[in-house]
Amino acid sequence: MKTDVILLRFGEIMLKGRNRARFENQMIQQIKRVLRPLPRAELLKESHGRMYVQLNGEDYEEAAVALGKVFGLSSFSPTVKAASELSALQNAVLQEMERQPAKPGTFKVSVRRVNKEFPYDTYEMHRLLGGHVLEHYPEIRVDVHDPEVELFVEIRNHESFVYSQKRPGPGGFPLGSNGKAMLMLSGGIDSPVAGWYAMKRGLRIEAVHFHSYPYTSERAKQKVVDLTRALADYAGSIHLHLVPFTEIQTRLKESCRDNLIITLMRRAMFRITEQIAHKRDALAIVTGESLGQVASQTLANMNVIGRAATLPVLRPLVMMDKQEIIPVAEQINTFNLSILPYEDCCTLFVPDSPSTNPSLKVVERQEQWMDWLPEAIREAVEKTELVLIKPDDKTDEDRLF
Ligand code: ATP
Ligand code: MG
Repeated sequence: MKTDVILLRFGEIMLKGRNRARFENQMIQQIKRVLRPLPRAELLKESHGRMYVQLNGEDYEEAAVALGKVFGLSSFSPTVKAASELSALQNAVLQEMERQPAKPGTFKVSVRRVNKEFPYDTYEMHRLLGGHVLEHYPEIRVDVHDPEVELFVEIRNHESFVYSQKRPGPGGFPLGSNGKAMLMLSGGIDSPVAGWYAMKRGLRIEAVHFHSYPYTSERAKQKVVDLTRALADYAGSIHLHLVPFTEIQTRLKESCRDNLIITLMRRAMFRITEQIAHKRDALAIVTGESLGQVASQTLANMNVIGRAATLPVLRPLVMMDKQEIIPVAEQINTFNLSILPYEDCCTLFVPDSPSTNPSLKVVERQEQWMDWLPEAIREAVEKTELVLIKPDDKTDEDRLF
């Protein structure tokens, strides 16, 4: 559709309350960020707080795709903007009619009169604007119950908006408005999706990845960098913490029962992630766990593993099926990266029959015998590499390898 103005709508949460100014600033920052590749586009604010994008010749579809990456945006509309005067509004409804993709047989006008000083009331405006359309489209009929086109007219103090289409935005909360969390990011399908849901809920995330170099390859690490980059499309940039996990894994393998190694490994991962979280002022850990999906994700295992963390562990996918997760992974462009074959640190150490019902007591007793573990965890945190990943910028990551 050809348009030069996009009217933006935010979730209810934006409308009231003390946080409004902060939320609005966060939204403005994110919208400006995604519109950067469209340099002529401007973000503007109508006197009453309505925000819109003036495209100044930039492509609407490109802008619509970019806006799809701004959490907190509930919907948006290609819009005709007009002065709040009768003749200007009459022209605007005709313009909106002209750009309908198919010629409609029926229509209706819905006026919202925010400007209480406007000389005509809502009822008169329905008649004046509807009549104007009928004059120019003799074959069209008014249908107030089920119109093919509904022309929404929002009359504000100086400027008014006319639109007939609404596109859903991603919804959720503005990025960062609910604080920060650490995302445990493997190379699999689930954890990137969990990270996306966390961001959608207003959490800024930092990713933590455990690698077992040289058992895992540079390409496995690269895959996680690429996944982080795909997520950074929604955030502008994401810090990625790369934790050397080889030593802990090999020592665990030597010193614990085979069927408990996954449980113990995951507990060590949680402890390390939590220490990094404290350093980075994050208040939660996000994982891609989904109840019952694999042996390490039985309720008993989640219980024993989760107790290693004291921060809240958020599991956005916990009740989701793989068939529900995969379409999201595709939509956020992580699926094709996730299915690349490079091995994960855990798959290398997976025993034949991991315990699905570990005893917390047994696990804790085993850990007590491992007097080397706290020091090894501290060392892993200390040797963690930190990189800042941006959507298109390769410089920071080049320094890494
Ligand atoms: P995913 O598809 O996210 O890899 P999964 O179904 O393979 O998940 P697991 O391998 O049991 O499940 O991992 C459960 C969760 O533990 C992951 O979703 C992720 O949050 C975390 N995790 C697993 N391996 C790693 C790793 N190498 N680095 C960081 N986090 C990890
Ligand atoms: Mg995995």
